Amino acid sequence: MIGIGIDIGSVAAKGILLNGEKEYRILLPTGWSPRQAGETILKELLERSSLGRREVDQVVVTGYGRVALQSADQTVTEIKCHARGVAARCPQVRTIIDIGGQDSKVIHVSASGKVMDFAMNDKCAAGTGRFLQVMATAMGMDVSELGENENSAQTVTINSMCTVFAESEIIGLLAQDLPPGGIIAGLHQSVGKRVGAMARRLGVKEQVAFTGGVAINQGVKRALQEEIGCSLLVPSDCQFTGALGAALIACNK
Ligand code: ADP
Repeated sequence: MIGIGIDIGSVAAKGILLNGEKEYRILLPTGWSPRQAGETILKELLERSSLGRREVDQVVVTGYGRVALQSADQTVTEIKCHARGVAARCPQVRTIIDIGGQDSKVIHVSASGKVMDFAMNDKCAAGTGRFLQVMATAMGMDVSELGENENSAQTVTINSMCTVFAESEIIGLLAQDLPPGGIIAGLHQSVGKRVGAMARRLGVKEQVAFTGGVAINQGVKRALQEEIGCSLLVPSDCQFTGALGAALIACNK
């Protein structure tokens, strides 16, 4: 079967086309129109694979913008798609911690990718990728530079939980000439504490996978590991697990 999975997130739209052993993938900023981002992903995946829309058996869409893509055959929740995608890559995983642009989730999953239980924070930017994007701007860098610039030996604790107050706190700490690497480590610690507490409330069953765009950041991985007391497995395509799950569902796998 030939299937396409599209994950339209708050920050990034991701797409995967599966055709037997062949796999094509695309990531784009979602921008202001989730529908447009989804349509562009679909068009580019078809172009890259030299396939027509009618040759694709199913298009499954997930993510916060999923209702916007009306040309899809099926919409599926992100929780279900992440579980399916991680189980395909790492069947030994029993807990998934996913931190995306505007939410964070903890999912208990079976070896076959069935969701057993989950918890989610989508009410507050603290503990999400958005929090790190705002703080990176305050530090004068791109969010992708935070991980390599942290200095956890000099961690400066950030007291404000709220994103708006934390931004003012960072500006104040920089004005006091505190080491930027230590402030960054403090930001990672803040995300780790917030998401780690949610994971502990649901229960941490090993092995634990860390997914979503924020899992690219080595500093958040370090802080989260310290918080939950076990090592985290980050799949190489950690930002694509939702799209992969959707593509597998599209192929009836
Ligand atoms: P969504 O599905 O909500 O769009 P993603 O799982 O795609 O979210 O993750 C987006 C978040 O990932 C961004 O807010 C940012 O914090 C983080 N991120 C994206 N790319 C990188 C990178 N190269 N390095 C570190 N963090 C990143």
